[in-house]
Amino acid sequence: MDKIVIGRPKIEKHENTYRLTSTLMYDKGTTYDMWFEVEKEYKDYLCDENADAFLIALLSYVIKHELDVEIEGSISSRLYYQLTTYLIPLLCKSFNKRSIHIKCDISDYDFKPNGVGTGISCGVDSFYAVLKHKNFKDKKYNITHLTFFNAGSHGEYGGEKARTLFHKRLDYIKKFCVQNNYKLVTVDSNMNEFIKMNHLATHTFRTLSCVLALQKLFGIYYFSSMGSSFDDICITPVDSAYYDILNIECLSNQNTLFYSSGMEETRLGKVKYISEFKETYNWLNVCIAGNDEKNCGLCEKCIRTMVDLESIGKLELYKSVFDLELFYKNRVKIYGKVLKWSRTKDKKEYYKEVVDTCKKNNVKIPFQSYIISYFPTYYGFKNFIRKLVPKKIVKKIHDYRIKKGIITNDGWLN
Ligand SMILES: [Zn+2]
Repeated sequence: MDKIVIGRPKIEKHENTYRLTSTLMYDKGTTYDMWFEVEKEYKDYLCDENADAFLIALLSYVIKHELDVEIEGSISSRLYYQLTTYLIPLLCKSFNKRSIHIKCDISDYDFKPNGVGTGISCGVDSFYAVLKHKNFKDKKYNITHLTFFNAGSHGEYGGEKARTLFHKRLDYIKKFCVQNNYKLVTVDSNMNEFIKMNHLATHTFRTLSCVLALQKLFGIYYFSSMGSSFDDICITPVDSAYYDILNIECLSNQNTLFYSSGMEETRLGKVKYISEFKETYNWLNVCIAGNDEKNCGLCEKCIRTMVDLESIGKLELYKSVFDLELFYKNRVKIYGKVLKWSRTKDKKEYYKEVVDTCKKNNVKIPFQSYIISYFPTYYGFKNFIRKLVPKKIVKKIHDYRIKKGIITNDGWLN
């Protein structure tokens, strides 16, 4: 296989929803109907005039597999220019891939969209993007719609399990939007089942492809930077967020302008900002333990957020979303972890900042926490052993675990 054809997009009714569908053709005759699905209310905003959404959804896949792309239809002129002149050559070069060719017509549709959107997960980054654009002086930058997509974050390979989780989480998001008066647009897609790649490595492309499917609605879209700051910018196969500053520029077209929201602020700065808004007190949901509506209080994200809140004296405001009794009971252990992470984690600056803020604001870190922060952990021991083993053997074990499905691949390279 050295080429994939993206069939002309069309809009079809599917039960009570509408789908923007394209038939992909590859491997000499194999086909796959890829779709983006919206509720009836948003069907007129689906864009079948160009294939922008499908090309962006598939971008990481075609670069990874070194596939040329033939499009039955057109790509927006601005998008085509930015992709073929900057983004694709740069990514192919950075990931040691063959340069790929895009064959398509060019179009210049101007839909004059006036919607302003951002994704909502009720986490810190998404709340920051929402609240930052709530009462902006120039109203054209204020959010009109929140979005929630099934584009890999509920299960990177898609499937029914991921779709079930998407709907379960959607129930929570719907309740938040109803109670706080936000319009919500949802997009389901079966792109994940086709792409089958690591989510972190490809999430920017998957998410923004859903927005481009609705480019008749969104004139502006704020994409949360998910914790990456200007200091972290680099092109890496591990996480597309590290070069979002380039992605958002290159994936915008003449209808939809993307901004990377939150790059200007640290994680703690975002927590501080959102804690000024009452609507976060009963809805903040940061947990990665998969308990959905409840924060577990024990995973890294829960710990990080609770400690952030305590360092600025705001933790009590969040008593309905965090089990504070559990937090205070485990406070010595929790700060032990935070102190250790402030010395050892990849993102140790997150934790350094919160430790410094505790000191500045006289939030006492227990003495025992300093002691236990020097105890070895299982992962620390594992990393130590890993450093002693030759790299070739580490890679062999890694490849074996991917083959057996114990871990997923690292992104664009495997
Ligand atoms: Zn948790």
